[in-house]
Amino acid sequence: MPTIYTNCTECIYDEDVKTYGNDPSYSNMFLMNKIHLENIEKETILSKNLPIELCKHIIKISNVLERCNYCNNSNLCKEHSDRGRNYSNLYRGIKNNIMCNKCCWFEVT
Ligand SMILES: [Zn+2]
Ligand SMILES: [Zn+2]
Repeated sequence: MPTIYTNCTECIYDEDVKTYGNDPSYSNMFLMNKIHLENIEKETILSKNLPIELCKHIIKISNVLERCNYCNNSNLCKEHSDRGRNYSNLYRGIKNNIMCNKCCWFEVT
């Protein structure tokens, strides 16, 4: 689910992330929160010299996305691509491919 800062398929920023994002035991929400806070930080820096809408746009295009090698459908940000490489390695033993969360579930079930 894309957020205002990225079109990544797996990035979420919702009420749950706001509530649990500071707790490392909720690793997924903790990661979402971390990504979101980094984007806010970039926006804060950029907005000293640029209009806010332009800042959002710049951050969005600077968050380069990579596609899942298995379904060819999910687009993932850097953090989620890195996680996807771990998944691919774990489930298929292929290091350089990216496996999205959804494809991962098909592997497990
Ligand atoms: Zn993401
Ligand atoms: Zn996939």
